[in-house]
Parts: sequence; C-alpha cells; structure tokens
Amino acid sequence: MSERGPRLRAALEEVPAYRPGRSALPEGGEVWKLSSNENPFPPLPGVLDGAVAAAAGFNRYPDLACTGLREELARRLDVPVEHLATGTGSVGVTQQLLQATAGPGDEVLFAWRSFEAYPVLTSIVGARSVKVPLAPGEVHDLDAMADAVTSRTRLVFVCNPNNPTGTLVRRPALERFLDRIPSDVLVVLDEAYLEFVRDDEFPDGVELYRDRPNVCVLRTFSKAYGLAGLRVGYAVAHEPVAAALRKTAVPFGVTQLAQDAAVASLRAESAMRERVSSLVAERDRVYAALVDQGWTVPETHANFVWLRTGERTDAFAAACEGEGVLVRAFTGEGARVSVGSASANDRFLFAAERFRKG
Ligand code: PMP
Repeated sequence: MSERGPRLRAALEEVPAYRPGRSALPEGGEVWKLSSNENPFPPLPGVLDGAVAAAAGFNRYPDLACTGLREELARRLDVPVEHLATGTGSVGVTQQLLQATAGPGDEVLFAWRSFEAYPVLTSIVGARSVKVPLAPGEVHDLDAMADAVTSRTRLVFVCNPNNPTGTLVRRPALERFLDRIPSDVLVVLDEAYLEFVRDDEFPDGVELYRDRPNVCVLRTFSKAYGLAGLRVGYAVAHEPVAAALRKTAVPFGVTQLAQDAAVASLRAESAMRERVSSLVAERDRVYAALVDQGWTVPETHANFVWLRTGERTDAFAAACEGEGVLVRAFTGEGARVSVGSASANDRFLFAAERFRKG
C-alpha cells in the first residue's frame, strides 16, 4: 500500500535551499575561506573570557528580552530601548520582519542581485519577491524600485552597502527614495557592513529612522564585531514595528553567550575600529591590485569585492579553488570574494592574476 507523506506547505516548493559558503576542499589541503564575508580576526579583547564564564550557566535559559544588550545599544545609539529588537543574526531578524509584514498575496521588493536570504525568506512566508535589477555600475536603481511599489508591497529592502556588489546608496538619493515610499510600506535599511564604509555621504540609518516610522535599520554583530558564529543581530524601529519583531522572534533564540559577547564586543569598540581599519586598508589594496590586473571592479564599501565574471564564473571559482581560495560563485553572474588576512588576500590576488593571464 502506498502511503502519502506528511503534507507540506506548497510555498516551500518555491524555496531554494540556502547555500552556505564552502569551508573545505574535497581533497583537504590548506584553504583560505573568502566565501562568507567573515572577519578573519578572533573575538575582540575580553570577549572570549566573558564567553567562557557564561558557559558555566548553560543549564539556564537566556534572558528572553535581551535586556542588557538592548540597554547597551539604546545608550550607544541614543534610541529608546523599546525601539530595539534582537534576533539570531540579522538574518533571524529578517525572518522576523517578513513574518511580521508579509504573507500570501503580498510583495516584497528588493534590488537584484542582493543578499540571497531575501528571496528565500520571502518565499517561506508565502509572499512574492519583486526583484529590481541593479543599474549600470552595480548600484541600486532607486527610481525603478520606487516605481515598482504597488498596493501589494509590504516591505522593501535596501542593502547598504549591497551584498554582493559592495556598492553604496548615498544620502540624498536615499532620502528622495524614502520620500516616495508610501507610509504604510516598511523600508528596511540592511546595514550589515556599515562599519566598513568610509564615504562621507553614507546615510546613517539610525539618523534616518528617527522621524520616519516606516523605516527600520538592521545591523549585525557578525561582520565588524566578528561574532558570526554566535548569531546575534538587531533592528532599530519605531513601535509598533519593533514590538512586532519581538513577537515574531524565536523565544530564547539569542543565547546568553551571544548576548554577553555582544555587550562585551560593543565595549571593545576602539579595538573593533582598529581591526576594521586594517581590513579597510586590505580591501583598498585588493581593489587597487585587481584594477591593476585589468579587472573591472565596482568600488566596494564593504569587506568584499565583486567580480562580474559572467559565463566564466564557475571556471573562475574553480581556478581560485585550485589555489586553495574559496570564493562565493553566482553561476553565470559573478564572484564575491571576502577580504581576509593579508596572506589570504595575496593568495587570492595570485589566483586572480593567473586566471586573467590564463
Ligand atoms: N544582511 C546582509 C546584507 C548580509 O550579507 C548578511 C550576512 N551574509 C546578513 C544580513 C546576515 O548576517 P547575520 O545573520 O550573520 O547577522
């Protein structure tokens, strides 16, 4: 007798499986992982000791409300603590945002290519992704995005700087765009890479959100603060958006270890800034070397570079892998390569030059 399996939601058929960055070569050997935009530095000073101490309390649930972390952030950002919501990485907060705003029949708008989780998480809630192609120069086409808003649009992502292209939306353009978006559509400014930006016209989302109840800012401890493995991120938004994000959070999702490490990392801000400055210097070195090699690279404001390798993308990724360098390949489009340690970057530059000459 043939039995039918459990019924699953039809929306899941649309969901592409998330592909994490590779971390090892099938045949072993030394690898430089430049595929996940990770921070090559170990945890900031003091963070590991606090984490080891927190490990003694694993028999207890964490603080559900993330009180200490939210209070520390509220002080530093000068926002009410009620305007803060946390999650398991900013990808967790992204899921909370979609659960809070969108469902079947609704539209979620974003530039494409942008962060891969947007279409995945949109499909999971049963909403439809509206992807607005990047304009020449790999930048957000904000006019086209504003034109694409309909009565079904519930949420708009602006990834700034954009993953995977590293490009920036500047303040005047973003303000014009926000002025065009209806007040009942939530605009999420995803600032996962903000600490790497060195541009005077970068629009600080926390300043923009203050007098705009439909703007939400998304930030993470995974990149500049180097806590990717602990999974903690947050949103800054007015009520009732922040309250909705707290409702849709996985209960006790952010561990005490993650909360304590995030607070300790915020308190190690000057060390973080120093490390980020050294990564920015490496980024600028990698960028200049690629341009010297003859590559066309959009100016990057994050901790990665984007090479539009088109049809040769898989070959390029394989060539890098052959030198032990793992990159993130988007077949048929391009490759995103994180900025790592100086030796990893040297290895990547060697592979890139060899590929161009080959
Ligand atoms: N937003 C963007 C633009 C990202 O690139 C990433 C990580 N790749 C995230 C959010 C999520 O990071 P996390 O969940 O580790 O905070």
